[in-house]
Amino acid sequence: MLRFLLFPFNLGRLCARSRGSIFRFFLGMERFYYVGVQPSAACLHSPPTLRRLCTIAGMAERSKGDSVERVHCNNCRTGTDHRIVKTISDSGETEAEDYWRTTFDMLECCGCHEVVLRRRFDFSADPEPDIRYFPPPVSRHPPRWRYRLPSDLRTVFDEVYLSLDANTRCLPIIGARTLLDMLIVQKVGDVGSFKQKLKKLEAGGFVSADNVEILDAALDAGNAAAHRGHAPSVSDVNTVMDIVENLLQAVYVLPDMAQRLKKTTPPRPGKKTTP
Ligand SMILES: [Zn+2]
Repeated sequence: MLRFLLFPFNLGRLCARSRGSIFRFFLGMERFYYVGVQPSAACLHSPPTLRRLCTIAGMAERSKGDSVERVHCNNCRTGTDHRIVKTISDSGETEAEDYWRTTFDMLECCGCHEVVLRRRFDFSADPEPDIRYFPPPVSRHPPRWRYRLPSDLRTVFDEVYLSLDANTRCLPIIGARTLLDMLIVQKVGDVGSFKQKLKKLEAGGFVSADNVEILDAALDAGNAAAHRGHAPSVSDVNTVMDIVENLLQAVYVLPDMAQRLKKTTPPRPGKKTTP
């Protein structure tokens, strides 16, 4: 009498358990499923048959493990080959008979071994799949010196980077403008319009005349995003971030670093005095 057993198992268990009892294998989406019967046919005891089945199973496992895709790596900061370590999916139908499927892929960078999770949602009524990554692709890495910023500036600074990671454009620029405004108020006070504040910054020796123009451009981009519905490009966002970071570093970080460098640098030997 046939007895059907249905359960997932790995290759090692397959070889140990299946002596004299294997009848058929099915390759499922995620695992192997084994359907066995009571030993009856002589061929089922044949070691070559077992070996062949195990070889086929092993090849399928290896081919699944070796599946590689080009995906952005936050650690390598560029697109790299990623190995699909594990895939889990679920699917179903809605009451309106629309089909949906959710697939999670765990991907490992072949270069640095950083791991990222990808969620793909397919819906029959939507031609484009919704694909998201966790953590999301980082477009820009925060500088290490941010820990040296005053705590209030650091809080806004971190929020700007969170909005960059969320693939937004307007919010980082508005945040960058806020950072500039905070810096100006801390260094020269709340002295009217932004243009007047920039002039004060220049007069205080914090920025050069050339940099005032650059800052003016950054502030105007933030203003346009906040009040005129301007949708900046990725390049615009990066330019504004470059400008703001350079100023923050020059005002809050480099002076202390220069002082420490002076203290740790051995003084020049004095001139020899002639007798
Ligand atoms: Zn990597």
